[in-house]
Formats: sequence, structure tokens, C-alpha cells
Amino acid sequence: MKVTFIYPAVGKKPGERYIKTWTMEPLPIATLKALTPKDWETEFFDDRLELINYDTDTDLVAINVEAYTAKRAYHIASRFCERGIPVILGGSHPTLLPEEAEQYADAVLVGNAEPVWTNILEDCWRNALKKRYQGSPIYTVLPDRSIFKGKQYLPLGLVETGRGCSFHCEFCAVSAYYDAHYVPRPIPDVVEDIKRSGKQFFFLVDDNIAADLTYLKQLCKELEPLNIFWASQATLTIAKDEKLLQSLVNSGCRVLLIGFESLEQKNLQQMQKEWMAKVGDRDELVQRIHKAGVSIYATFVFGFDHDTPSSFEEALAFSQRHGFFFAAFNHLLPFPGTALYTRFQQKKRLLVNTWWLEPGYHYGDVVFHPQNMGPQELSERCAATRRAFFSLSSILQRGGQLLRRHPPLRLFAAYWLQNLKLRREVDGKLGLPIGEGLDELPK
Ligand code: SF4
Repeated sequence: MKVTFIYPAVGKKPGERYIKTWTMEPLPIATLKALTPKDWETEFFDDRLELINYDTDTDLVAINVEAYTAKRAYHIASRFCERGIPVILGGSHPTLLPEEAEQYADAVLVGNAEPVWTNILEDCWRNALKKRYQGSPIYTVLPDRSIFKGKQYLPLGLVETGRGCSFHCEFCAVSAYYDAHYVPRPIPDVVEDIKRSGKQFFFLVDDNIAADLTYLKQLCKELEPLNIFWASQATLTIAKDEKLLQSLVNSGCRVLLIGFESLEQKNLQQMQKEWMAKVGDRDELVQRIHKAGVSIYATFVFGFDHDTPSSFEEALAFSQRHGFFFAAFNHLLPFPGTALYTRFQQKKRLLVNTWWLEPGYHYGDVVFHPQNMGPQELSERCAATRRAFFSLSSILQRGGQLLRRHPPLRLFAAYWLQNLKLRREVDGKLGLPIGEGLDELPK
């Protein structure tokens, strides 16, 4: 028996290559590979890097689906269904919208695969796949990265440390997926996974690595002897504890992605992230993180009801004043299954209900009516803010600020390389047709 894993791509402009910074190792596929018994043959097509062989000889096709890749995933699924090959869809999108996913496949996996994957394979072998399987966030295996052999991913090791987040931010699909729960991964598994990967630079995949501070302190202790560099995602609350900041640095933490979302308190209240304003003085907390030796990848979201044109300028000025390593300036996107999506739907503010399936939907399109500006204006202001942040003068100025914080040489080199790459991609991503252009080269 043979199972074919497929990781669909977001979309591609005709004749252009896929967005390079979107080609990290797809960890869920390595986990599925590890869960698959040895008597099953496996193969893997990464739609972001290569063409899919729709004629491959296989017994089951398993596709990982996110909102941005749903349209493409359903297209791929239908190609295999036409041949009578059973297809199962899993990942965040089918978990949040199983009824929709069921229309495009023989089976749907809701939640994480660990407890049910071998049952699914057995049912497939008996030709008795069920319509729906219910997984849960438990850790049972170390990912088997041999499935990535021969594929060119970014040279960054991805290692999971936890799933979910205990906060309830209104727009957050992670909170909806894990029902505002956090599940940390056993630390010995994290350490073993890092050792096996053979890499030196890591992104510790965690929706909020500061969700359980006792766990994080212990993790830092165990990572210290490994002599690695790592980045992850955290909330600003991490800056409250100076000893913890020092432990982070000692363990190799050099960059943290922090979701500031908005500098306007009324917006934070509306998105149920008002606790951000109560953590302390934002500028002081940022300085503390920088002083400890950790750089910040700041993310902002625009389109909340109290955003005005000056909100963009303020976020840009804040980001440049602090010399952030990277920053993202995105418009609000109502992901299905979130409280935000429900609110917009009830208030009839959605321009399209299922934007992820909409023909002609492009990356960067706004799909709801913002309160204080038009959808097009919101999209354009986000793009203009990105262009300003990644302008050469801004990169130079932020590079100077980073230098004054005495970064390790490798981090300083990574700053220039990645900022110049992201600068090129600002306009490359805009207008990218979702789910299109992927059955052709170049990739
Ligand atoms: S803190 Fe971050 S991960 Fe947690 S619910 Fe809010 S946006 Fe999502």
C-alpha cells in the first residue's frame, strides 16, 4: 500500500517563481511520515517546489489544507477523486470547516493526526474509510524529515514546542482551532528533535512560546548546552521578567515575533486583546527585550473599527523608532471559524462569504467593509506602509540601530539578507492569484 502526501501552494503569478520566504519545511508532513507504519510506501509532492504527478500510482492521497490553500487543495483532491483514488483532507481549514471539506474528499481529519492516523490507514486498506476522523493535540512521535530529501527549503530548522494559545483574540484562527488551549510538547522530545535535525538555526514553532512560563524557563535551561540560535513567537508579556529574558538569550533566542496588532487601545479592546495595553509601557518593554539581546519581528493588523489613516503612520514610526528586525503590516482577514468572521457575517460586513474559494481572489484583497476607509484604501495603505518599512533608507537606518545593540555577526548578516529579500517580495506577493498558476513551471 502507498500513501501520497501533498502540501498545496497558495498561488503563483504566471511565469514567476513561488515566493521564496514561503518555502519552509512543512512540519505536518514529516509528522505524518513518522506516524506511517513501515509497511506503507510513502511519497510527497510539495506544490510550492514541484509539479504534482496526478497520475501517480497510489492508494491514498493526504492533503494538508489551510484557508489560503483551500481552493488549490480542493482542485488537487478532485483530480485524484476523478481517478477513483481515495483522498483525505486535514489541517487547520478542514478542522474549522469540516462540512465544506467533506464535499471535496472521501474523508476529513479534524484536529491533529497523532491518535488516529494508523486507524485511517487501516480503514483505507480495508476499503472502509469513514467520512470524518477526530484527532487531538497529543505528541507521540518525532517528525521524520527523510520525506524532505531532495527538496530545497529555507535553511531553517523547524521544531515544534507547543500547540495553541490560551488567549481569545477575536481574529485568531489558532485560538479557534485549539479552543483557546495550550498544549506544550515534552521537552526531551524538543531537544532530541533539534539534535536529529542537524541544523544550527531554528524556528521554534509555537503559537505563543510565552503561554506557559514554567515550561519556557525549563526549556531554556535544556536548550542552553545545544549552542543553537533560535526564533519563535511570543506575547509582549515575556518582557515582564528580566531573568527570563536573560535565560532566553543564554539558550540562543535571538528573534521573537510579537503581535502588537494595533497601537490603539480601543482596537485592542475590540479584538479581545486589551490585556496588551495593561502589560506595561510598550516602549519600555520593547527596550527591555532589545537590551537583553533579542530582536523583534513586529506584526500589525489594520482595518479595525478605530483605525484611521494615521494608524498606519503611527505603526510605521513606532517600528522605525525601535529599529525592528522585521515588521509585517497586514490587513484584517476574517478567517472562517473565528469570532471575527461570525461578527462580520452577522453585521453583513463581508464582501464575499467564502473568500478562500472566490474566483479572482488575490493575495492582499480586503474582503470586508472597514469602518473608516474603503477596502481598496485599506489594502493600498498596508502595501505603502510595507514599502516604506522595507525601503533602502529604512533598512539602513534599522541596520544601524541593530549594530548598536551588538548582535552576533551571523544575525547581523541574516538581517541584511532577509530584509533585502523581503523588500523584493513586497510587490511580488500583492495581486498573487490564490490557487492559480500552480500546474506550470517555473516553481
Ligand atoms: S495571543 Fe496570538 S496566538 Fe494567542 S490568541 Fe492572540 S493572536 Fe492568537
